[in-house]
Amino acid sequence: MGEIQLHNTLTNRKEPFVPLRPGEIRMYTCGPTVYDFAHIGNYRTFVFQDILRRFLHSRGFRIDQVMNMTDVDDRIIQNAAERGISIFDYTAKYIQAFKEDMSALSLEPPEHLVRATDHIEDMVKLIESLEAKGFTYRSEGSIYYRISKFPGYGKLSKVDLGGIQAGARVDVDRYEKADARDFALWKAPKPGEQSWETRLGPGRPGWHIECSAMAMKYLGDTLDIHTGGIDLAFPHHENEIAQSEGATGHPFVRTWLHAEHLIIDGEKMSKSLGNFFTLRDLLQKGHKPSTIRYLLASVPYRRQLNFTSDSVQQAASSVERLRNFVARLKEGKFPPGINAEMRKRAEHAEADFEAGLADDLNTAVALAAIFDLVRDVNTAIDRSEFRQQDIQPVLAAMRKFDAIFAVLEDNDESKLRALGFAPSRTELSPEEVETLIAERQAARKQRNFKRADDIRKELEVRGILLEDTRDGGVRWKNK
Ligand SMILES: [Zn+2]
Repeated sequence: MGEIQLHNTLTNRKEPFVPLRPGEIRMYTCGPTVYDFAHIGNYRTFVFQDILRRFLHSRGFRIDQVMNMTDVDDRIIQNAAERGISIFDYTAKYIQAFKEDMSALSLEPPEHLVRATDHIEDMVKLIESLEAKGFTYRSEGSIYYRISKFPGYGKLSKVDLGGIQAGARVDVDRYEKADARDFALWKAPKPGEQSWETRLGPGRPGWHIECSAMAMKYLGDTLDIHTGGIDLAFPHHENEIAQSEGATGHPFVRTWLHAEHLIIDGEKMSKSLGNFFTLRDLLQKGHKPSTIRYLLASVPYRRQLNFTSDSVQQAASSVERLRNFVARLKEGKFPPGINAEMRKRAEHAEADFEAGLADDLNTAVALAAIFDLVRDVNTAIDRSEFRQQDIQPVLAAMRKFDAIFAVLEDNDESKLRALGFAPSRTELSPEEVETLIAERQAARKQRNFKRADDIRKELEVRGILLEDTRDGGVRWKNK
């Protein structure tokens, strides 16, 4: 297998990827701010980091990944205050929702999914060490990071610090490049706001310090990979670097990976334009979790993803096509023997799939390799050139594909039900079930596997599970 190349935002180059410790990858991902349901743009980044993690795992690396959940920040405090509840009561619902969404999208849970408010002491320690090294100053009960003290400030986002006034400060967690300023590590308490009594005095952490503190607590001073959406490169990741490297004197992250934006019908997603979707909005409209996962994964992460109703439709039919293909291989009757060409074809597809992913996770190239295989095998089957012993190598290639893309298992219905989106379902009488089963058996006899599979799916949607018996008959039961 060829070497893995990843595009490092820090050097602005594609580079061979080699972890610091052989066989092991320590990786941090900026997780959600749990002030609302996560939107589809957030999930683009999370699906990307899942594809990355699955791919690295498939190459034999052990992964140690931290993802944070920001459960204290400006917006959370404001929203909780408006409702008159604690930030903990406010965020509980969205933390739960995020975990459910992750499982709907088949995102592998990171080794550490951690909350900021459980790590206040780690942040206090980190701020103390920055204070001891002279990177900070205090003003009106808050503690700020003096960016002019850190010579590397701006190296990730290439922000121009030319016009910056020494000592100009910013108190909000999110701001634009033009406002590159000294930022708050620790914020003085305000009446009615959640605050903590600490050695630094009362107050609450700024947003940026949490990621530095949690990343280094679990993964050490230097990480192999840090991922996030491109909008986090400045100021958030720039500030993480300044905090971590200021405190330890060691490089914080060797490879920074940033996912591009997702846009909707060519426009930036925004609540005011009415084109703002959470994952749940899309599932509510009847889209399958596998469709959304596939769509988000199919565009290489450094390319902007234009989310349109056409692209959703295409993703749905791509998943359908792949599932039908696997069903055809598993259920079809093929003449005995082997066609050596087929094994070669499958191995070739696997190699191309692998090479696409190794090239900075080019999922478009990887998918093309799989669809070429599907087309060629379907053609061979139609021409009766496909034999029994060709099934296994082709299925092996499909398993390799699905270890990364995770869309082949037909479990959308149960995932939707788990989120409370049960599809409206009309009851079938036992006679109707029997009629459909007979129709399916007839279709199979005629080798019309597409039709047979459609009937099986239709029954499944309506709550009927089929079980093929050894004597060639079929049993059915209610789900
Ligand atoms: Zn972060």
